[in-house]
Amino acid sequence: MAKSVSVLGSTGSIGKQALDVARFGNYKIKCLTANANVDLLEKQIREFKPETAAVADEKAAADLKIKVADLPVRVLSGVEGVCECAALQADVTLNAIVGIAGLMPTLAAVEAGGTLALANKESLVTGGELVTQTAKKKGARILPVDSEHCAIFQSLAGCDDKKQINRLILTASGGPFFGKSKEELANVTLSQALKHPNWEMGEKITVDSATMMNKGLELTEARWLFDVPARNIDILVHRQSVVHSLVEYVDGTVIAQLGVPDMRLPIQYALDYPIRHRSPVKQLRLEDYGRLTFEAPDYETFTGINLCKKACEMGGLYSALVNGANEQANLLFRRGRIGFLQICEAVQYTLENISPCRPGGASEIFETDRIARQAVNKYFRIETENTI
Ligand code: NDP
Repeated sequence: MAKSVSVLGSTGSIGKQALDVARFGNYKIKCLTANANVDLLEKQIREFKPETAAVADEKAAADLKIKVADLPVRVLSGVEGVCECAALQADVTLNAIVGIAGLMPTLAAVEAGGTLALANKESLVTGGELVTQTAKKKGARILPVDSEHCAIFQSLAGCDDKKQINRLILTASGGPFFGKSKEELANVTLSQALKHPNWEMGEKITVDSATMMNKGLELTEARWLFDVPARNIDILVHRQSVVHSLVEYVDGTVIAQLGVPDMRLPIQYALDYPIRHRSPVKQLRLEDYGRLTFEAPDYETFTGINLCKKACEMGGLYSALVNGANEQANLLFRRGRIGFLQICEAVQYTLENISPCRPGGASEIFETDRIARQAVNKYFRIETENTI
C-alpha cells in the first residue's frame, strides 16, 4: 500500500522535489505546509488532495482558506498549525522548512513518536540534544535527507558498534567560490553567491554553501544524527558531488555512497526506507565523469566550518548561538546590508563574545537564537531587530 507522507515546507526546493518523488511513487499526501506562498500551496492542494494544510503566516492562511473553500481540506495557521501537521500520524513526516523555524515542528514530530525524514538541519544544529533525547524517549525515528547524511547513514549499514568507526567524512562541493582568496571574495555579489555549481536549492542554503557555513552546520548535524564526536568528523572537497560522503572504519576500510547529484534520491530513500524502489532519478554513469577529485578545504578562507566545529566542541547551546548568528548574517547579506566576508566575521564575533543560555528546553534555544541575532545586528550597528 502507498505510504502516507506529510510534507512540511512543501513550497520550497526540497518540498517541491519531495512532491515530485510522491507523484512518481503514488504516495498519499496527508498534509502540506508553507510559510506564505499560498499560490503554490493552493496548486499543490488541488493536485495532491491532502486532508490538512497549514500556513505559518496568519494572514496568508486566511487567504488560503478562501482560495480552497471549495475543497474538503482543513486549513490550519501559525506555528501551532504547522506543529499540528507535524504531529499527524502520517507514515513519514518530511520536515523541509528552512532555518530554526523548523525546530518546533521537528519536536512535534518526534514527540508524536513517528518517522521523521529530516531535511531541516537547523533543528539538529540548534536543538540536537533535545531532539535526539525526545526521539529516543518517544521511540521516534529520524531519517536524514541531507545527501551527505543519507550517504553516511547508508555507509553505516551493518555497523552496530561505534568503536569500529574511525571518521565520518562529509564531502563538500566547495560552492561557487571554491579556490578564491579572501581578497577575491571581498566584493562578491548575491547573484554570484547564488550560482551553485551542482545543486538548485533555496537561497539561504545556497549562500551557506558559498560561505561553506553549510558544511559546518552539516558537521554539527552529523554529530547528533550519528552520535560521533565532532573531532571524528572531517570535510573533503569533492567538486563533482558524486561521492556523497564516506565512513572510514578502524581497519582502514572506507565505505562511501555514490549517485548523481539529485536531491530526489536521498528524499526518496528517506521516504521509502527501508525499501528501495525505482526512482525518477537517472542512473550514475561514472564514465560520464571520467575523473573524480578530492582535496582538503581552505579553512583559512572559509572559516565557517571551524567555527561550527568549535561551537560543537564547546557544547551547551553554542551551536544554537552560531546558527542564530549565521541565519541573521546570511539574511543581512541577502538583503544587501553587509558584504559576503562579513557573514563569517559576524558569526566569529558572536561565538567569541556572547554567551548562550544554559540548555533547558526549546525556550532556551529560541532565547539563544534571539541573543545571537541581536549581537549580529549590534555588530553591524543595525537598529531594527525585526529583520527576520
Ligand atoms: P526553501 O527556502 O526553498 O524552502 C523553505 C520552505 O520552508 C518553504 O516551503 C517555506 O514556505 C517554508 N518556510 C519558510 N519559513 C517558514 C516558517 N517560518 N514557518 C514555516 N515554514 C516556513 O529551502 P530549501 O528547500 O532549500 O531547504 C529546506 C531545508 O532543507 C533547509 O534546512 C536546508 O538546509 C535543507 N536542505 C536543503 C537542500 C536543498 O537542496 N535545497 C539540500 C539539503 C538540505 P514559503 O515558500 O511559503 O516561504
